Amino acid sequence: MSTPNPDVYEQGRGMDAHNQVMRDIRARNQRTYDPSEPTRVWLDEDNTPDGVYQSLTIILNTGGCRWARAGGCTMCGYVAESVEGGTVSHELLMEQIDACLEHERENAGDESSDLIKIYTSGSFLDEREVPATTRQAIASTFSDRERIVVESLPDFVEREKLTDFTEVGLDVDVAVGLETATDRVRHDCVNKYFDFDDFIKASDAADAAGAGIKAYLLMKPPFLSEPEAVEDMKRSIRRCAEYAHTVSMNPTNVQRYTMVEELYHDGGYRPPWLWSVAEVLQDTTDADAIVVSDPVGHGSDRGSHNCGECDDRVQTAIKDFNLRQDPTVFDQVSCECELTWDAIMERETSYGMPLSR
Ligand code: SF4
Ligand SMILES: [Zn+2]
Repeated sequence: MSTPNPDVYEQGRGMDAHNQVMRDIRARNQRTYDPSEPTRVWLDEDNTPDGVYQSLTIILNTGGCRWARAGGCTMCGYVAESVEGGTVSHELLMEQIDACLEHERENAGDESSDLIKIYTSGSFLDEREVPATTRQAIASTFSDRERIVVESLPDFVEREKLTDFTEVGLDVDVAVGLETATDRVRHDCVNKYFDFDDFIKASDAADAAGAGIKAYLLMKPPFLSEPEAVEDMKRSIRRCAEYAHTVSMNPTNVQRYTMVEELYHDGGYRPPWLWSVAEVLQDTTDADAIVVSDPVGHGSDRGSHNCGECDDRVQTAIKDFNLRQDPTVFDQVSCECELTWDAIMERETSYGMPLSR
C-alpha cells in the first residue's frame, strides 16, 4: 500500500492504489501556465430553468484541485492546466476576470451574456482556491447579469458563500461533479471521495441560500462495460433529478495524463458510443430536470463516437435535444452502426476488453 504524504488534506480518502497511479501519471506532465490568463474562456448558449441564455463560460486558473494533487479522479486531466506552486492571488484572479470581459467585448459586441459560468478545475467555493474577497469581487463584477453558475465539490457548499451572489441580485447555481448517483461507481471507478449523501447535504445548503444545483454526471468511467454505463446513467439521472434542476450528463473523453489514457493505450478502454448518449437522453425524459449532454471530442477516437459516418449527425441531434428537450430529434438520425451498438449492448460483459474500438 502507498504511504500518502501526511500533509495532504486528503489523507485516508479515496483508494490508495488509484491515488498512487494517478500521482505517478500526473508527475509526467511538465507544463505550467500563466496565472494572469484564464485557462479558457468562450461564448455559447445554454439552457437554464428560465430559458436559453447567451453564456460566458470561464475556466479560471486557480491553484488547481487539491484532490487532484493527492492523485485524484481517474479521468481528469484538468490539474494539468492549473498553475505551478498551488495558489493564485486575488489580483491575478481579477486580471483573469478582466481578460474574460475583454474576450466577451471582442466577440459579443454590445450583447452581454445573461449567464456566467465559472469553473476552476477544482472548487470555486474552496477558499484556498478562490478567497472570500475574490468571490465577493466577482459577484459584484457580474451583478448586472441574470444568473451565475459556480463549480464546487460538495464539501465547500455553504449557505453564506452563496448569499454573496444572491445579495447582489444574481440567480445562482452550484455545479457539482457528482459523476454518478452510485457510491460504489464513484469511489471505485472514478476515485472520487464523497458520497451521494454529501451531495444531498450540499443541495440542502444551496436550497437554504435560494440557490440551485446543476449536477454533472460522467458516462462510462473506466471499469464499466457499455451496458453497465448506460444503466448507471439512467438510474443516476432519475435519482439526482430529485435534487438538481439541471443534469449535465457527459461522456468520458480520454484526457492526457490520466488513468483512462493508460487503459485506452492498452486497449482496455473505449469512450461511450454516441448511441448510448442518445439512448440515455431518450429514456430519461420522464425525470423532473433539464437533461443535457456535451460530448467533448465527439467522433474522435478519444471522444464519444460511433462509426465515423454518423457522428456529426448524432451530435447535432444531441445539441438540438439540449435546447428543446424533445426526444423525437433522435428519430431523424439512423445509421447501420446501430446494429453493432445493439450487439454490444447485448453482449459486452467485460470492461477490460471492449468489443469495439
Ligand atoms: S474531476 Fe474534479 S475533483 Fe476530480 S481531480 Fe478533476 S478537478 Fe479534482
Ligand atoms: Zn454510424
